[in-house]
Amino acid sequence: MPEKKPQLSIKEQLKILLKIQEYDSQLLELQMRKSFFPDLLKQLKEEIKNLEAEFKEKSERLTEVKKELDLMELTLKQEEQALKDSQDKLLKVSTNKEYDAVQMEIESHKEKIAEAEEKIIVLLDEQKSLEKEVAELEEKLKKTKELNESRIAEIKKNSQEINQIIERIKAEKARLEEKVSMRLLNKYRQIRQGQQGVAVVPVVDRACGGCHQALPPQRIQEIRAGKLVICESCGRILVDPDILKDEEDEDKGQ
Ligand SMILES: [Zn+2]
Repeated sequence: MPEKKPQLSIKEQLKILLKIQEYDSQLLELQMRKSFFPDLLKQLKEEIKNLEAEFKEKSERLTEVKKELDLMELTLKQEEQALKDSQDKLLKVSTNKEYDAVQMEIESHKEKIAEAEEKIIVLLDEQKSLEKEVAELEEKLKKTKELNESRIAEIKKNSQEINQIIERIKAEKARLEEKVSMRLLNKYRQIRQGQQGVAVVPVVDRACGGCHQALPPQRIQEIRAGKLVICESCGRILVDPDILKDEEDEDKGQ
């Protein structure tokens, strides 16, 4: 036989199909929840990475500024010493020409000293603001890392849990699908693709629960009788809303 012959009536199969549809909706919702995770993870990791890059850049600049300061302070010291030497030399000159030359040296050293002092003031300013920024960034990075890493772990755990639920639902769905004829199952899948995932709908107020098209009394009778009826308007499988109530009654009766 090409397909497994189900032992169940159409009505019972439709009842099962409703459960399959419920599982399919759950699967869709779980997949959607999962679909947000990659972007979320990327965002959390990027936030850390950006802060790390900023922290590295500012720290490197701070090291550079400190080096420049050391160099400038050394230059200042050298120029101050050179100025002192020139001033001493001035006391020992014997000609006007020598005097002028040493005077020029002195002026040049004084200019260089003023230049170095100005640069030192600017560098000290930059050092101060960089030290503040680096300290703030370090604190922010530490907090962000703690927070984001715990959120990343949470998302990963969540994702694993969802995967487990998905596996469970899929197994349960496969078990139910065994009980429904291939023909009905294929019909269901085909309708689902065209109808935003809802393939089996109850009759509501004597109309299709999917598209609200009023149903002829004969169709309603056929549905009650447990026949497979497809809505002529939207193509969905129609079921008696009492189908689940029947089940509850049967459960009570057992
Ligand atoms: Zn319809």
